[in-house]
Amino acid sequence: MKNKKLTTASGRPYFENEDSMTVGPRGPVLLQDFYLHEKLAHFNRERIPERVVHAKGAGAYGTFRVTKDISKYTRAKLFSKTGNSCRVFVRFSTVGGEKGSADTERDPRGFAVKFYTEDGNWDLVGNNTPVFFIKDAKKFPDFVHTQKRDPRTNLKSPAMMWDFWSLNPESLHQVMVLFSDRGTPDGYRYMNGYGSHTFSMINKRNQRVWVKFHFKTQQGIKTLTGPQADELKGKDPDYAQRDLVDAIDRKEFPKWTLKIQVMTEAQAKEFKWNPFDITKVWPHKDFPLIEAGVMELNEIPANYHADVEQAAFAPSHTIDGIGLSPDKLLQGRILAYPDAHRYRLGANYEQLPVNKPAVPVYNHQRDGMMSLDGNGGSGQNYFPNSFDSIAPDPSYKETPLKLDSDIAATWDRNEKDDDHYSQPGELFRKVMTEEQRTNTINNFVCSMKGISGPKKKEIINRQLNHFFKADKELAIRVAKGIGIKFEAGKGKK
Ligand code: NDP
Repeated sequence: MKNKKLTTASGRPYFENEDSMTVGPRGPVLLQDFYLHEKLAHFNRERIPERVVHAKGAGAYGTFRVTKDISKYTRAKLFSKTGNSCRVFVRFSTVGGEKGSADTERDPRGFAVKFYTEDGNWDLVGNNTPVFFIKDAKKFPDFVHTQKRDPRTNLKSPAMMWDFWSLNPESLHQVMVLFSDRGTPDGYRYMNGYGSHTFSMINKRNQRVWVKFHFKTQQGIKTLTGPQADELKGKDPDYAQRDLVDAIDRKEFPKWTLKIQVMTEAQAKEFKWNPFDITKVWPHKDFPLIEAGVMELNEIPANYHADVEQAAFAPSHTIDGIGLSPDKLLQGRILAYPDAHRYRLGANYEQLPVNKPAVPVYNHQRDGMMSLDGNGGSGQNYFPNSFDSIAPDPSYKETPLKLDSDIAATWDRNEKDDDHYSQPGELFRKVMTEEQRTNTINNFVCSMKGISGPKKKEIINRQLNHFFKADKELAIRVAKGIGIKFEAGKGKK
């Protein structure tokens, strides 16, 4: 390896990297040692703001290849024929813990995919769960506060969590998934990913369908029991990070099959529930999974901070042929995610290598901190102008979405949307095996036993009532595990 000369950040070769410049061998230190200042000052600035959620994560590059033709649903160039492929970057994460927290915490796992397509970047920013705790972004800060630390004790608080969940029964479906063994996956390779929201696809004839995305793991589902996950928190807090890096270094490249569910606009009008409600799934028998492609992860980024810590995913990064939906949580995330990136990384975050599209970017946005890409050079910075040829292309316009509603307020909620119990009940009764039901109950008991404080009884009873509405046996077994006598109807809001 050719010797490289040590330099300052401004490129000046420098002669001393360990001893400060002093008056005599014993000091004091001279103010003119600018390299000392630079080293310490840069060190002080190493941390960028931690993500408020999804702070702890692991990432990898890979490829996505189209294996089945879904071009009748979407005009996205990526899906125009089988065999098409593009590079991807994926970031997995836990949600509630800080950057140094343990990988095996009971928590949803983030499953965020950036497709670098010839139509620009498409981000599918999902989780390992098909549903979510809340269906409106207005509740998001409140919900997240309950998953973080108590303002006084600075401790995680089961009372805060269960207080919020029990006062928001729409959370029950996700709570059920979270407390099943899928809430503690055995690393990131052995879990599914879900776009979770309802999205849309638009085809060449400008016809829209509603779509859900599912990444099915080809490694098979592997989960940890509550006690196994707890033990690993102490033994190897970076368990999932290590598993991903080691597997890819061994050339065991993890793969997922991307599948979609499709709902027509007519079916959406007839659907039993609100098709844009993220607390519900679309049953597979009514909306079967359709294969679209395979994703393989095969490269750990050379530098964690550069690519994983600076990766900026946003549900608003859609491409032509794949669009949004009226899902209220999605609509809130369209605003919140790019806003978070502008706060953490600056207005030019999309110029960072991991976020940079694989296609040229043409617009009149200029300046701001850390402009890395030449800032438009000598080109015009306004529109319209008589000089450049940058112009909007109407062929990319989506067919208008017909709405048949006035502006709604919360009191106009459709009653049918407020069935918080059928799907969690079905998950418990029909999908889980007896062993999985027992583990889920044990996980509930273990967590709810941690509820303390003056509202303990009220919170537990309120939650048991929700369990009861989903499945009687569930409520009775959890109550028995906690060691209390449960009476349906007591403790209701
Ligand atoms: P299906 O029997 O067709 O599918 C059940 C699904 O549940 C499978 O996709 C399975 O994933 C997944 N699953 C199994 N155990 C768990 C768990 N502990 N947590 C989360 N997902 C799990 O059923 P339906 O489509 O009729 O749905 C029944 C229930 O299954 C729903 O109410 C929902 O709770 C759950 N579910 C449904 C999904 C959907 O999109 N329809 C997606 C995920 C869950 P896998 O195939 O990978 O084993």
